[in-house]
Amino acid sequence: MLFLVTACALATNSSVAYSSVTNNSPTKTASNVHWFESFKTSATTEEMYAFLQALPKGGDIHNHMSGSGLPEWWFELATDSSINSGYQYYTKTQVKHCQPYGGNEFGGTPYLMMFHTIQRSTYEQLSQCSKSEYQPLTRLSEEEKNGWLNSIRLDKPYEGREEFFQRHWQRLGDLTGNPFIMSELLVKNMQAFGEEGVMYLETQMGPKGYMDPGGNPIQPNIVADIFRHRLQEKDAKSSGVTARLQYAILRFAKSANEDLKDAYQFVDKNRDIYVGVNLVGREDNDKGHPLRFLNTLRELRKTTPTIPLSLHAGEVDEPNQHIRESLLLGAKRIGHGVNLLGDPDTLLLMQSGRYLIEINLVSNLLLEYINDYSEHPFPEYLRTGIPVALTTDDRGMWDSNMTDEYFTAVTEFNLSWEELITLGENSLQHSFLDHKTKTLLLKNYREKVKRFEKKMKKKLEKKPLFEPKYSKYSCRQWQLCTKN
Ligand SMILES: [Zn+2]
Repeated sequence: MLFLVTACALATNSSVAYSSVTNNSPTKTASNVHWFESFKTSATTEEMYAFLQALPKGGDIHNHMSGSGLPEWWFELATDSSINSGYQYYTKTQVKHCQPYGGNEFGGTPYLMMFHTIQRSTYEQLSQCSKSEYQPLTRLSEEEKNGWLNSIRLDKPYEGREEFFQRHWQRLGDLTGNPFIMSELLVKNMQAFGEEGVMYLETQMGPKGYMDPGGNPIQPNIVADIFRHRLQEKDAKSSGVTARLQYAILRFAKSANEDLKDAYQFVDKNRDIYVGVNLVGREDNDKGHPLRFLNTLRELRKTTPTIPLSLHAGEVDEPNQHIRESLLLGAKRIGHGVNLLGDPDTLLLMQSGRYLIEINLVSNLLLEYINDYSEHPFPEYLRTGIPVALTTDDRGMWDSNMTDEYFTAVTEFNLSWEELITLGENSLQHSFLDHKTKTLLLKNYREKVKRFEKKMKKKLEKKPLFEPKYSKYSCRQWQLCTKN
């Protein structure tokens, strides 16, 4: 077998990065060793990263678009009004005691929060004193610009869950209310994902909460048209990534049940681009507990043809019934599912294989739902028959990519080749795509995997295998950018 030859050739490499690999037993002959097992044994960290970046990957089906903008992308889009349709932005760089003591530091716009970004129409409404605390984003010094970029990147040891939930989105402020910036971010993500072999993106990107440069609300149907139109443009199509959207609802908002009704109506009328509904927002706020939505969903199902639900559940520290209750709500997929081991009956139910868990390894570590990867239940799910897929969640905030998720999975949990390619297969199989498109993407995925395997037979003899594009997360986590 040609694989065998190449594997033996690789085994002479002095750098052995994956010594925990199985099939190295002295009783086994080389002919029993799968080429991927040999590759894991012999590959350096850089080679494994490059290999996984080139691997065909199915879909990213748990992705928040407002959390998926790399800081540099946000900055570029916010400061170029020819791309962002004429909006101008200001950000807070000073505090001059313009507001009296005792303001709300726990609301959406804490007064003491730096780098809060607003559009010109919001800026114009500020007092003269408050205006002097902000400056145009285009005029930041290098130090201020770096501060701004870092303020939406979760990369410090002391930054975790609170920084993420209570500061990152609040700082983005009006930027997430610009539908043109959001559609550019969508295309940038499609292009970047396309470069690392991702074929499908199902992102959470609702049509509400947008405003024009004058500060007037933009109606959801107009926002949907902006998204729809952008997806038809050449650069979006040539990314090689098929994209669909989910309507996400902030689960603990007072209006969440009403929002859910709106979402159903809206998705039903825009099924060409919207394929599902999600419930988002930190689960440790019990105002958003799953059963809150049971009656509303049952009423909606009396009048609306099926709308697939993927619900965040089990992204908490303590054991609870959120996953079971989310299945009762009708969820076909569970986002995160970190605490499922604490609910054995539901674990058994999910081993029937009907429901997929969207696994977010990097997110779960950075947001402290696990202390280290040895605590993550992913291998237990993967190896007891629960369909799983790797997903990126808020990759812009981690400054990561899909390769980082795959690299983590392979190096922490010693995935076999079959397990590795099943992840991509699952992501497409459990996507909310229409039957025809899903069948086509699955066919393409299987062909790409076959071609990739064939190519690897030849490529493994040569070094370097591929030229990787490292994410900032990979530089921080595995020091990949400094090794060469
Ligand atoms: Zn999420």
